[in-house]
Amino acid sequence: MSKKTQEIWSYAPAPESSKVVQIKEKYDLYIDGKFVKPSSGKYFKSINPADESEICSIAYGNEKDVDLAVKAARKAYDTVWSKLSAADRGKYIFRIARMMQERSRELAVAESIDSGKTIREARDIDIPLACNHFFYYAGWADKLDEAFPGRKPKSLGVVGQIIPWNFPLLMAAWKIAPALATGNTVVIKPAETTSLTMMILADIIHEAGLPAGVFNVVSGYGDTGASIVNHPDINKIAFTGSTAVGKIIQKAIAGTDKKLTLELGGKSANIIFDDAPIDQAVEGIINGIFFNQGHVCCAGSRLFVQENVAEKVIEKLKHRMASLLVGDPLDKNTDIGAINSKEQFDTIQQYLKIGVNEGSEIYQSPCNLPKKGYYMAPTLFLDVAQSNTIAQEEIFGPVLAIQTFRTIDEVIQKANNTPFGLAAGVWTDKGSRIFNVSSQLRAGVVWANTYNKFDPASPFGGYKESGFGREGGLHGLIPYLKFD
Ligand code: ADP
Repeated sequence: MSKKTQEIWSYAPAPESSKVVQIKEKYDLYIDGKFVKPSSGKYFKSINPADESEICSIAYGNEKDVDLAVKAARKAYDTVWSKLSAADRGKYIFRIARMMQERSRELAVAESIDSGKTIREARDIDIPLACNHFFYYAGWADKLDEAFPGRKPKSLGVVGQIIPWNFPLLMAAWKIAPALATGNTVVIKPAETTSLTMMILADIIHEAGLPAGVFNVVSGYGDTGASIVNHPDINKIAFTGSTAVGKIIQKAIAGTDKKLTLELGGKSANIIFDDAPIDQAVEGIINGIFFNQGHVCCAGSRLFVQENVAEKVIEKLKHRMASLLVGDPLDKNTDIGAINSKEQFDTIQQYLKIGVNEGSEIYQSPCNLPKKGYYMAPTLFLDVAQSNTIAQEEIFGPVLAIQTFRTIDEVIQKANNTPFGLAAGVWTDKGSRIFNVSSQLRAGVVWANTYNKFDPASPFGGYKESGFGREGGLHGLIPYLKFD
């Protein structure tokens, strides 16, 4: 579709109302069942990436605040939470899930404003899945002995959790729900560009009447996260974020008896065989790389197409890319919203330059980008070599690197030629080929004839530099437990 056709056949705007959420001017820390000011008195601004306006101020927690939060969490663990029956623990978590559902529209709008993701994705994916994680783990709370028969599972104590900005509420749910269900208390830090839904969640948890100190939020930057990691009275760290910070954390806790799970970056292969249902595969490629502006650790950012169908697939892909609507995240028609921050926008632009300089051919779909805000056109690179930076490093944006292959052995070798190992996709008509290929791919999750499908009952996590430990499902309980 040309730019002109797109203008003629444009959609009328369908904006979701931002009035459903009452955003406060300032958000404090949540420690020991109370909203409290940061001890430094410092706050930082949260920016709306859709129009670069200021949304609100967020408390900047420091070492002292982290210490208060850990002390509150320890006291709550010793005196209340570890004494409570597992069934009662489960009831609290169910209550949180239901209250999140009741406020789901508000949460979806807040998430869209704060992160730049489209309202459609926030409304249909992030928020329902976040609620489902609480429902799912609420169900496990009083069944831990059945989940691990004969192994006598026990909680760890106080867990420190640090989350990224790409799925703010969902990542919070992935961490908080299993931690509480297994009887631990929590000190959590949202990412600095996306604290808003965590603060609304704190309000929900407060209203749900969770005993003081069981759940604590210390917002802030990387140094706040480091204070959590280094606090001596924390029993476990759960981190989702970049591989670079994951490595720092692993070094920091080496030699301590803290448990650790790391969910880090990825450069996942999406593999299209010549017998694949091409139209569905094209949808899968689009979903794999452009979902959430490509800010997805398991994004299918390396596309491998079998050589004899490459031309056809790329043509269809370009055609489909041209129909993607980039713009206001709160508009219900929008397919691709705003890049999360100026910093991330600049990082992606750097990668585009590197891709061109290293000899790949760039294609960006024709679209009208809003003048204000951090927007970019969906992008793909052709003629990419295995050694190119854009095929090796995680870009975390709507940028696809395309390569071709002839044989199964070749594509498995190419797909596994990466420091990462988070996810992969395989598209083929043959079930036997799916089993053959997926069993040889070094990736934590392999999707067959689909991509980016998530369910609370299904474990997620990586190999190699994508981290270790699993979140979701029965496996997601294990990192929060010790066994006799
Ligand atoms: P990105 O590079 O994509 O922003 P990061 O890994 O830097 O991802 O951020 C993920 C989370 O880790 C954020 O909440 C961030 O504040 C936090 N963080 C950053 N640096 C550190 C650190 N040294 N120790 C602990 N947490 C950190």
